[in-house]
Amino acid sequence: MTTTAPHDEQLWSRCAGCASLLYRKRLRRNLDVCPECGTHSRLDAPARVAQLVDPDSFAALPDRAVEVDPIGFVDVLPYPHRLTAARAGTGLDEAVVCGTAAVGGHRIALAVMDFRFLGGSLGCAVGELITRTAERALADEVPLVLVTASGGARMQEGALSLMQMATVSQAVAGLREAGLLTVSVITDPTYGGVAASFATNTDVVLAESGARMGFAGPRVIRQVTGAALPEGFQTADFLLRHGQVDMVVPRHALRGRLTALLAAAREGRGIRRCPPVPRQEPAPRPSAPAGGPSPEAADGSGRDAWETVRTARNPGRPTTLDYLESAFDGFVELHGDRLGADCPAIVGGLARLDGRPVMVIGHQKGHTTGELVARNFGMASPAGHRKALRLMRLAARLGLPVVTLVDTPGADPGVGAEEQGQAAAIAENILALCVLPTPVVAVVTGEGGSGGALALAVADRVLMLEHAVYSVISPEGCAAILWPDSSAAPQAARALRLTAPDLCRLGVVDEVVPEPSPAADHDPAGAAELLARAVAVNLAPLLDVPPATLVRRRRQRFRRFGAARAGAPAVRR
Ligand SMILES: [Zn+2]
Repeated sequence: MTTTAPHDEQLWSRCAGCASLLYRKRLRRNLDVCPECGTHSRLDAPARVAQLVDPDSFAALPDRAVEVDPIGFVDVLPYPHRLTAARAGTGLDEAVVCGTAAVGGHRIALAVMDFRFLGGSLGCAVGELITRTAERALADEVPLVLVTASGGARMQEGALSLMQMATVSQAVAGLREAGLLTVSVITDPTYGGVAASFATNTDVVLAESGARMGFAGPRVIRQVTGAALPEGFQTADFLLRHGQVDMVVPRHALRGRLTALLAAAREGRGIRRCPPVPRQEPAPRPSAPAGGPSPEAADGSGRDAWETVRTARNPGRPTTLDYLESAFDGFVELHGDRLGADCPAIVGGLARLDGRPVMVIGHQKGHTTGELVARNFGMASPAGHRKALRLMRLAARLGLPVVTLVDTPGADPGVGAEEQGQAAAIAENILALCVLPTPVVAVVTGEGGSGGALALAVADRVLMLEHAVYSVISPEGCAAILWPDSSAAPQAARALRLTAPDLCRLGVVDEVVPEPSPAADHDPAGAAELLARAVAVNLAPLLDVPPATLVRRRRQRFRRFGAARAGAPAVRR
């Protein structure tokens, strides 16, 4: 976080921490850490690679980013213009640099994110490149090291960017199964979808001194809660105190710490003799995502996307508990995360569908203001995500299919939620669903809000009610960032391609579940009947599939959303 001084800008930098004027060469020799006050400046990816790995050991992966604009996104600028500017400004193809290297003599696969490139945002190309790095680690049987720096998912790629959290997580799950060490190094800043997936679902999480990490950013939390943030909120030391990272490491000690971890993992592997890793079937080609929607891809019904957002949020729509009363029988609610809390925004338990026992887990909103407040508007806390995780694992142990009902504006954007590890809780659920050995059918019944929704929606079949929405960010949030003001929410809603027909075209959703006309709130019983039928029809073919096949197919389903080309020179479509 140094800024250049007005004079001799090649030679001198001013420290953002103590305002000392520093000789640049001296600063670089000190790994861009201020020798006066210890402030760690942000590093770009090439500088990070040079600092972290053994000299001359880095070899870039042959895979290259392809330019994608899967939803034809335009805010005040078309997305391809922003990409072109980011490329020119950084000299990189994308917001990540990937390759193989050695650290302290130990071979690794390495992906380093670059915050300069569109805020290090996670899009289809970044997700694909990191996934290929993980696959390279698996093929070479070496540990994976991820260095994160990101504002979160790339909203210009809509729900497809949200899917990248699952795409990378399923690859991390593969390394976990193979007994290969995964390490993330959290650098400043790491937020949103990256924090809530591969930054925190690795085996060991290091935070560089001065790094901040969280699911919701401080600005959003302040806006939503109106609460003052505690001193040092979301800093590395805060994360350590709240049990969310293994250690805080100053930059000059990173190489040494990594070397020690890699050495231990190698010795451990020598003793344990891991079974050989089964080769993965090749992933199907990304069809819809790479091609993008047709220009007239607005909701084919002629309804405006913003109108659908309003319908999806209508408090008159049936809630998860309503569906449990009507579409399912004999619901027995199970409570608690077994770690100290029971989140009212997530409900779950045993029920029957067509006479067959299932585990149902869903977000719970409410119809009245009182109910909504009591349920925190369906915004789950980390305890809610951990309750969901407990119930998923219980279902797998009992051999019961899991049905999830998704209806949330997003995960709880609060101080307490961050203290209790919101990002890691979501990340763990995404990973757990990638390997859960029992059928999973997810239905987005109302609002599918970002990572909080995905934490229940990594499924074999993903269904969506006709007037539901599913999005990487709320239209208001997107408008506030990319448009001059948040009144552009209706435009953002159109640009984000968040309706069921759009998401079906993009392959994010498998099937649209019809609602009684004009919408579910007018005929809750009819809506429940349609939902029950759709879930039963989608669940039936999954019941006889062997668990290992089920898991492999589910992971392939979430493997297909990336964008990169193998071995090709840096050609752009
Ligand atoms: Zn300083």
